[in-house]
Amino acid sequence: MDVEKAYQQIKSSIPNDVTLVAVSKTKPTEQLLEAYNAGVRIFGENRVQEVVDKHEALPKDIEWHMIGHLQSKKTKYIAPFISLIHSVDSIKLLKVINKEAEKNNRVIDCLIQFHIAEEESKYGFLPNDAIELAEKINELNLKHVHIKGIMGMATFTDNTNQVQEEFRNLKQVFDLLKKNKWPHIDTLSMGMSGDYDIAIKEGSTMIRVGSKIFGSRK
Ligand SMILES: *Cc1c(COP(=O)(O)O)cnc(C)c1O
Repeated sequence: MDVEKAYQQIKSSIPNDVTLVAVSKTKPTEQLLEAYNAGVRIFGENRVQEVVDKHEALPKDIEWHMIGHLQSKKTKYIAPFISLIHSVDSIKLLKVINKEAEKNNRVIDCLIQFHIAEEESKYGFLPNDAIELAEKINELNLKHVHIKGIMGMATFTDNTNQVQEEFRNLKQVFDLLKKNKWPHIDTLSMGMSGDYDIAIKEGSTMIRVGSKIFGSRK
């Protein structure tokens, strides 16, 4: 698998205003460097220790995104450098991110994760709770987190109609929140290797692509 070729191919097939996050979890730093040399500056990781190590090892102009479930107690390790946390799935976590960001004199960009898939194992808030949740978050008036948008994952299935419907559902949540509670939000993170084309058709502004760039994971 040629990382550069794969990256360029995806990049040239998506609109310019859709941000491509290269999901490099489990991949060795040499492969990330290959991607870096091909122009990648945004990497997505889902483990705290791994993103800390890779941040240490690789060039400092890289934006690191946390895309997987984040335990509150581990937030302090990524707070000094993380660019965007896609996976805020509890108020408790958001408060901890705020606290750790303050310690680092930072405002950390966050996405609120919603559960749109059929599978039970995935994290996230329920779409029906969106408005109430946004009100709660607004009341907290946290000064060191910035809610930039929302994130979600579709069901892992060949049924493209189902995937499309789930993304459409997430876009509706995004529009609802933007219209009523968070007029400033601009990021809708949805779409992975197998479904980003559908996600973009449904309004995604940020896709998270791993295996299609780096090859399959064990
Ligand atoms: C692993 C992962 C991805 C990328 O998955 P691919 O199918 O390899 O593109 C995207 N989003 C999240 C949250 C992930 O954990």
